[in-house]
Amino acid sequence: MDPFLQDAPQASNRFRADATLRNTLERILPPEVFADASPLFDDMGEHALGEMRALAQHAETHPPVHVPIDAWGRRVDRIDVDPAWLQLVKIGQDAGLVAIPYEDEFGEHSRVVQFGVIDLWNPSSATAGCPLSMTDAAVRVLLNEDEDLAKAYVPKLTARANAWTSGQWMTEKEGGSDVGRTGTLAREAGDGWWTLHGTKWFTSATTADISLALARPEGAGEGSRALSLFLLELRNPDGTWNGIAVRRLKDKLGTKALPTAELDLDGTAARAIGGIGRGVPKVAPMLNITRIWAAIGSLSAIGGGLMLARDYANKREAFGRKLRDLPVHRRWIARIAAEYEAANVLGYRAALLLGQIEHASGDADLARVVIPLTKMAIARRSVWATSNLIESFGGAGYVEDTGLPRLLRDAHVNCIWEGTTSVMALDVLRALRAPGVPGAFLADVDAKRLGHGPHVSSRAAVRGRGMGARQERRRTHGDRGRALRGRAVDRRRAARRRRRDGRAGFRHQRRIAPWTSPSASGRSPRRSRPFKQRSGSSKSRSRSRPRWPTTRASGRWSPRRRSPTGNRKRRAATWPAS
Ligand SMILES: Cc1cc2nc3c(=O)[nH]c(=O)nc-3n(C[C@H](O)[C@H](O)[C@H](O)COP(=O)(O)OP(=O)(O)OC[C@H]3O[C@@H](n4cnc5c(N)ncnc54)[C@H](O)[C@@H]3O)c2cc1C
Repeated sequence: MDPFLQDAPQASNRFRADATLRNTLERILPPEVFADASPLFDDMGEHALGEMRALAQHAETHPPVHVPIDAWGRRVDRIDVDPAWLQLVKIGQDAGLVAIPYEDEFGEHSRVVQFGVIDLWNPSSATAGCPLSMTDAAVRVLLNEDEDLAKAYVPKLTARANAWTSGQWMTEKEGGSDVGRTGTLAREAGDGWWTLHGTKWFTSATTADISLALARPEGAGEGSRALSLFLLELRNPDGTWNGIAVRRLKDKLGTKALPTAELDLDGTAARAIGGIGRGVPKVAPMLNITRIWAAIGSLSAIGGGLMLARDYANKREAFGRKLRDLPVHRRWIARIAAEYEAANVLGYRAALLLGQIEHASGDADLARVVIPLTKMAIARRSVWATSNLIESFGGAGYVEDTGLPRLLRDAHVNCIWEGTTSVMALDVLRALRAPGVPGAFLADVDAKRLGHGPHVSSRAAVRGRGMGARQERRRTHGDRGRALRGRAVDRRRAARRRRRDGRAGFRHQRRIAPWTSPSASGRSPRRSRPFKQRSGSSKSRSRSRPRWPTTRASGRWSPRRRSPTGNRKRRAATWPAS
């Protein structure tokens, strides 16, 4: 008898195989844009399977190395990066991952098209998206703030061939969340030039050609208001560092192929972007972009992992059945699939909003809530999802040469960079205190409930886990699944599950996609419960209360804040005015 050999899970072209991604793009893009962009999506789906996959595997197993001193004792601070990783960056640039929104072929939908391609590129990229996201953000800042620097650098950064990349140096030892503590000094050197002096504690992609850096002009005072934003080239024309010494490369949990270094700046020649001052406000549009890159990166991790988990469930057997035929395993995958659907709605909603803002048709107030919320929710849920995904492979998910543990390690970084989860939450709260923002957000919530606006609501997001389970059964069982569903016993079970998941789904979608309606009829499942379930002991009453914020003064739940969209008259009195 032949020894047992397990077939490995196989990836396929995600644009064709991932119905969630495809349907989201199809729903959010006008038909003619979807038709024009489909070849781009399909090409990237294919590309990510072939050459890119091999390059990514090579890059992941050959992390960058810092060579401080050469063979003859000269200080060189060379960072040797695997050529496979550099090739992945180049493939991304050639495919227009940075260029698409600036070429503007798809108008206000350019961002959705760009992020669709990024989504398909990501799983085989060995986190080469990091320098590309910062490049994209740098272009936006230069276009917004400094015509001369934009003329000099934007064509290089947005080229498809031999393009440059940009870093983004904000974090220092004293603080990454609290950039007001930035210690790097900027000294005026005359003729519009400055020199920078200090330490940048996290600098990713030290392979970049230029970087944007926050620094404090000498004598400008304390705090974040005294900061300015500078542009520097990393290398002098002769190839030596521009006043930069590499302390060391970070030894990280994940993003192994990405060179992240600690750098000392001593006399680094730089120019102020848009003159001196307003450093932090100039960075804000940059964060809108990099945060969506982080959210879509998290989405890709779930989508890529889910595709492998489904394939494995079709191949692996336990207790005489395929994993796909084990109800508990099916439900395990279905829960992840439902989260993934909701995350798709949210991620591409944010991408559309960004594109609309760049074309002056979007609501910038709304973006102040939606973008940090999107980054926070999807990045956090992707850690949960990738943890569950690697478990769906059993022990194989924990073994390095399957490539699966990387999913979880790399998902984690998206929670941290561009601001941690708590920092995102505080950004949302801060935005909600600004005039106009709560009104814009609630109007968007109402519009989605009434079914207006871009049609991006997902039935799975609305109905939660139950829908995911049924979809999963259809996907994994094909005709047999349909036959099973026809049985009377199965119908009874499905009805029970619908009743149960209607409630679970509502809780679930409030967490992930707060503006989608709680049920197809627009009625809250909680409100439709029989009255007797809401009355009774004080314990059961407290459990039936909606979990809406407490009033700050009393610290107790207030019936007047029952829901952000219901009870309009009362809300007008208690919710911050728009
Ligand atoms: C792989 C990697 C690459 C990176 N690359 C770059 C890069 O290229 N450029 C760059 O500038 N940075 C980079 N960073 C840094 C990253 O942006 C910061 O680590 C991040 O912003 C957090 O800052 P910090 O590390 O100083 O943590 P801190 O700001 O010290 O935060 C520590 C903890 O305190 C919490 N916290 C902070 N403030 C508050 C608050 N007000 N209320 C509640 N909780 C709070 C945070 O949520 C966190 O849990 C990178 C990080 C990683 C991991």
